[in-house]
Amino acid sequence: MTSAPVTPPRVRIAPSPTGDPHVGTAYIGLFNYVFARKHGGTFVLRIEDTDQARCTPGSEQAIFEALKWLGLNWQEGPDCGGDYGPYRQSERLPIYREHVARLLAEGKAYRCFATPEELAEMRKVQREQKLDLAYDGRYRDYDPKQAEQRAAAGEPHVVRMKVPREPGATTTVHDCLRGDVTFENRLIDDQVIMKSDGFPTYHLACVVDDHLMKISHVIRGEEWITSTPKHVLLYQAFGWEAPAFYHLGLLRNHNKSKLSKRKNPVSVFHYRDLGYLPGTFVNFLGTLGFSYGDDRERFTLDEMVERFEWSRVSPGGPVFDPVKLAAFNADDIRAMDVDTLTSQLIAHLYTPERLRAIVALARERIDLLDDFVPYTSFFFAGKVDYSQVLGKMKIKKRTRKEVVNILKTYIEEIERDPAARGFTAPELETFSRAFCERHGWKTREVFTLLRLSITGRTAAPPLFDTMAAVGKDRARLRLRDAADVLRQQPEW
Ligand code: GLU
Repeated sequence: MTSAPVTPPRVRIAPSPTGDPHVGTAYIGLFNYVFARKHGGTFVLRIEDTDQARCTPGSEQAIFEALKWLGLNWQEGPDCGGDYGPYRQSERLPIYREHVARLLAEGKAYRCFATPEELAEMRKVQREQKLDLAYDGRYRDYDPKQAEQRAAAGEPHVVRMKVPREPGATTTVHDCLRGDVTFENRLIDDQVIMKSDGFPTYHLACVVDDHLMKISHVIRGEEWITSTPKHVLLYQAFGWEAPAFYHLGLLRNHNKSKLSKRKNPVSVFHYRDLGYLPGTFVNFLGTLGFSYGDDRERFTLDEMVERFEWSRVSPGGPVFDPVKLAAFNADDIRAMDVDTLTSQLIAHLYTPERLRAIVALARERIDLLDDFVPYTSFFFAGKVDYSQVLGKMKIKKRTRKEVVNILKTYIEEIERDPAARGFTAPELETFSRAFCERHGWKTREVFTLLRLSITGRTAAPPLFDTMAAVGKDRARLRLRDAADVLRQQPEW
């Protein structure tokens, strides 16, 4: 189809602040941004933070930072300099409650008092009888008056949408890239729209917000396509017109599996901190599923805006190829004039705070100013050489596999632990001690392993200060690299 909206489109991305900004968010953000700009529309940033248990401190700032680094500037939403909002779902709870009350009053939703134990029992029986696991509608026809009384008395409950259940009923999602996708209603659960803590679920908040924020085109990842029939049913229940839906392909690894941390780093900051250029990174994302034409792969953001048509976008899951990205970056570095490259390099290597932290650590160990560069080189290198220290990574009474696993577990747990988010020396120390305790490893052994993995050296400044100064993304990358190198060694 050609994309020439009559009125300027309003689009949004709606990331949840649950960790480092994901390259998938940047990818979806790029297509939303480009489409909006092409047609003089508006690009909205909405923070979906209603699942408070999953939100981590600092993640919202990280989203702003990542989008700004890429130059994907939003015109409405937090931190855009405009006077709009609120665009944080946690600040809009009364709006969702009002809308849920409306569906309840119109009999399009109902309160469900089934306890978690009761629902677990229901699923157990379904499993035993080899039935589909689904909510069985036990409160669907419950007397609304009685339900109101129980709710007024403070009894915990959720609110569910009442999916129309006429025999043979279906719900069709029109996806502008994929055509119509039809779902049988009997396979769509009576979805929870309001949780027992009074917070809306994603489905309800997303539909209410997209409607109230006048979003005309919902451009998001393929993983949301199974949520869309639920959204379409909610639009129908409210009597609203649904926006146009575009589900872009999921980014994939070479083997076509979904892009995951195990195979490729997925944090935007990883690429930033290793020294990929933002324009190059945006160009690379732009080649995924979008064809500029004439086999041309190198283009600027402005050129992509100029050429953008939905007919040039293909929804098949594009492969995120880090080798290609690296080749793009190498070309762009060669093409830079020396002055620009010099200032970019200085900005990349030496923010004044970072340099100060490294100088503070090096002062005890350098005798001449000239010793500084060789002594501190590992702070700056993306990768380090482990050939000299591999033998020292052996730990008595532990197999090679156990050592590889402990490194991997460390990476996984540090990524999930909100207490280690700031990656400061005290946070790292507390986390690492608790980690050793949890897994029954000696701190001395694990700390040595960390030091060797992070620095590639046996002698280095204090471990946690060093890790903090190396920085989170570089540190994680090295731990991952060290684990990979060890894995390829013969058993010791
Ligand atoms: N909060 C969802 C996310 O994290 C938003 C999905 C959507 O765009 O509707 O991506």
